[in-house]
Amino acid sequence: MAAKKPLIKAEPAKKVNKNAKPDLVEQSVVSDEEYRCTCCGHKYKKQETNFNRSKSPIFAGNNGYLSICCNCVAKLYEGFVKFYDGDEDAAAERICQITDMYFNPEIWAMSRKISESRRGKSRNRISTYVSRLNLTQADRATTYSDTLIRRWEANVENAETVAEVEQNPDIKTSPEAVRKYGTGFTAGDYDSLEYEYQNWVTENGKPMDKRQEELYISACYLKLNIQKLLQKGDANIGPAIANYKAQIEAVTTEIEDRKKKAEEKQVDPVGLMIRDIEEFAPADYYKDKKLYKDYDHLLDYFKRHILRPLRNLLTGSKELDKEFSLSDAEE
Ligand SMILES: [Zn+2]
Repeated sequence: MAAKKPLIKAEPAKKVNKNAKPDLVEQSVVSDEEYRCTCCGHKYKKQETNFNRSKSPIFAGNNGYLSICCNCVAKLYEGFVKFYDGDEDAAAERICQITDMYFNPEIWAMSRKISESRRGKSRNRISTYVSRLNLTQADRATTYSDTLIRRWEANVENAETVAEVEQNPDIKTSPEAVRKYGTGFTAGDYDSLEYEYQNWVTENGKPMDKRQEELYISACYLKLNIQKLLQKGDANIGPAIANYKAQIEAVTTEIEDRKKKAEEKQVDPVGLMIRDIEEFAPADYYKDKKLYKDYDHLLDYFKRHILRPLRNLLTGSKELDKEFSLSDAEE
């Protein structure tokens, strides 16, 4: 057999310059990725100028940009203005829902002026809004959930402390009213309570002390209770009215007595003081200042057995009696 021929013929080595070995070519294209708008389908080379930034976790994996391009957001907004019969606020709200964006009423109001003040071609209002919103996210409100939180907190009945009321500019009820009547009432309740309270002051003068103030307040609670039962068509309204009537009588009688005493005191302060001491402070009792201050314990009774349960009933609070109550563990 004849010897096989080698398959590749060995060629003589070519001359090379080992210092001129081809190196990496400088990259001119950063990325050949394209960013497709999920609404119009257009493919963009860059997200930066074509999509709005977003702080929503929904778009975190999209480099923190919305998946709907700026043009589409503007078009959708115009569409929703028509959909809501010209209501721009409702249209903006809808866009915020769709894009999981915070609806800030202050910035939205501002965006109208900015959009209108541009001479010539006016900028789409929602575009102005989004760019402004992204510039001013200092209060950490960024997504539509924050809109819902803000609305919840704007209702005074959801405030758990007076401090929360004081710190929230969205709440219109005065912190003084919340301090006076307790937390948990609606804005309308506070108005009714305060209106009723002022009626008492007009009719019977400013409360001379804490006790008189509590009497006024308890009458206000009872009146509110009747209003609520009436609105609900509750059958318990009869006893509530009887209770209210009795309370009014108690308050007015007490106030008249006090007036009489005050007048007497002016006429004969020494004689009256002696009468007071004889009546309420025989030797042993005189040392008990608390007893003298609130000798019939009526105020304490009111606070514990009328005001507290009534407040619980009206606001749904779980305030317990300081003495006669069982903790959860004991029940
Ligand atoms: Zn688009």
